[in-house]
Amino acid sequence: MKLIIFGPPGAGKGTQSEIISKEYKLTQISSGDILRAKKNSDTQIAKLIKFYIDSGSFVPDDLIISIMSDEMKQCDDGYILDGFPRNTYQAKVLDEMLEVKGEKIDSVLCLRVPDEIIVARLSARRTCTVCSRVYHLEYNPPKKENKCDYDGAELYQRADDKEETILERIKIYHTETQPLIDYYQENNLNYCVDGSGDINEIFTIIKRHLNSLALE
Ligand SMILES: [Zn+2]
Repeated sequence: MKLIIFGPPGAGKGTQSEIISKEYKLTQISSGDILRAKKNSDTQIAKLIKFYIDSGSFVPDDLIISIMSDEMKQCDDGYILDGFPRNTYQAKVLDEMLEVKGEKIDSVLCLRVPDEIIVARLSARRTCTVCSRVYHLEYNPPKKENKCDYDGAELYQRADDKEETILERIKIYHTETQPLIDYYQENNLNYCVDGSGDINEIFTIIKRHLNSLALE
């Protein structure tokens, strides 16, 4: 099974990908994780990636496509892609690469979460200044107010988790993802799920959908 997952920041994409990949024995392929890991190696590609990431720009299409296709080659049993494709050009190349092998994407999962819930989730996050552990004021609060449980260091709110920044990130997400959703809609591959509820309930809905695909 080959899946793609979309969702705004704070939608629980990472959590759902993890549960789905365990249940269906898929490999989680997150472009962000791969780039972060590759960036620290000592290769020519690592230097390139580091350059793009550090200057705040996106890694060019052809480079990301070649990195991701290397990863995909290693997972014959299937995978769930997160953060790739990022635009319709990448999506078309991905389809072509799969077509050559007689394969295709089976489903595109989109987690939908209202903006105000994302803001509420992310703006309550606090990060340790020393060990970078993340707390949530409501769901996973530190034992002592504003102090890390592990090292007692001060907690702070990352710039990324401030309301204005969150709203901006959501806006970028929608602008970026809408053309992709339209692209996959042409092949009826999209499956949208309300991502604002309970983690297990959301997974149950996704599972029902994926099982129905497997029966076709
Ligand atoms: Zn800490």
